[in-house]
Amino acid sequence: MKTVRKIIFGVCITVCLLVIPGCSKNNAELSEKVNNGEASRELFAMDTIMTITAYGEKSSEAVDAAAAEVKRLDDLLSTGNAKSEVSILNKNGNCLLSADTGFLLEKSLELYENTEGSFDITIYPLMKEWGFTSDKYKVPSDERINELLKNVDSSLIQWNPENRLALLPDKVEIDFGGIAKGYTSSRIMQIFKEYHVTGGIVSLGGNVQAYGRKNDRNTWKIAVENPDTSPLDGDYAGILTLTDKAVITSGGYERYFEKDGKKYHHIIDPATGKPARSGLVSVTIVSDDGTLADGLSTSLFVMGGESAKEYWKKHSAEFDFILIYEDKTVEVSEGIKDSFSSDFDYEVIGK
Ligand code: ADP
Ligand code: MG
Repeated sequence: MKTVRKIIFGVCITVCLLVIPGCSKNNAELSEKVNNGEASRELFAMDTIMTITAYGEKSSEAVDAAAAEVKRLDDLLSTGNAKSEVSILNKNGNCLLSADTGFLLEKSLELYENTEGSFDITIYPLMKEWGFTSDKYKVPSDERINELLKNVDSSLIQWNPENRLALLPDKVEIDFGGIAKGYTSSRIMQIFKEYHVTGGIVSLGGNVQAYGRKNDRNTWKIAVENPDTSPLDGDYAGILTLTDKAVITSGGYERYFEKDGKKYHHIIDPATGKPARSGLVSVTIVSDDGTLADGLSTSLFVMGGESAKEYWKKHSAEFDFILIYEDKTVEVSEGIKDSFSSDFDYEVIGK
């Protein structure tokens, strides 16, 4: 597993986040600092390093509440925790879901429909087979993949919003890994509002959501990571200057293993049961809605550039994108053309 570096920076501060290999998977406090109305905390949860920063009178309380919320959601949604609601549903095939899990299930089913199956939470048995859940990586045989693909189909999930009962047929298991961090960051925005902070920013393993403004009334500058596998030179592909948005990136470089000189990453194409190879190196989604941004970053990565752009044309009111291709092409949708800057050439995509 390689070290993943993510960079976020406000106008005056630069916060560098290092994912520390071998770090405990428990929600662990790494550091906390409070000064001059700015409170910041780093913790390890959802298999990644998170940084939560807030400004304002109640910034410290807001950051504490946000960290507690991360822990609560991790306990509910983690497939790695046998007591989580998701694990109980996967094990028993039925579960009465809490509001949060029910909401995520509904959003995931909606995305499954809208993306024609590119986003599919029933991918979990394949995540296990490839070893992404245990770090015991292997390349499964085509036979085994085809066997498991029989149970990869979100239309097999039964969900009754009236009585909140979710049912999974035998061998169907789900995983919110493609959407849970975006939901978590959007919940933190809610907490920032409740505590009337003037501004705040959260990075969940590089998935960023920004709220309000910094002390100095400036908006946020968020670096769009330049993947190691990207043909572009430099640490980041560009900078977004914005506020009140989620900026969420999916890329094959985030988690992968190598076998016989070939790289295998953790975003699986439900059509093939194998890591998606669509010509894209990364997809960044910018949206007011963190949950949607996370779900779409995964979905559009699976779809590939052409379908991603088609999808955006139908849903351009909901999000914008930055697509980085294997051949160095960078495309940015027109809604963020004024907030994006880059040293690289990029094409602005219009409707
Ligand atoms: P990251 O979590 O690294 O930021 P993503 O948001 O793209 O990146 O999520 C990847 C995770 O989503 C995988 O680890 C897995 O849990 C899940 N996943 C993989 N492929 C799919 C898919 N086609 N549909 C839905 N979820 C997926
Ligand atoms: Mg995602």
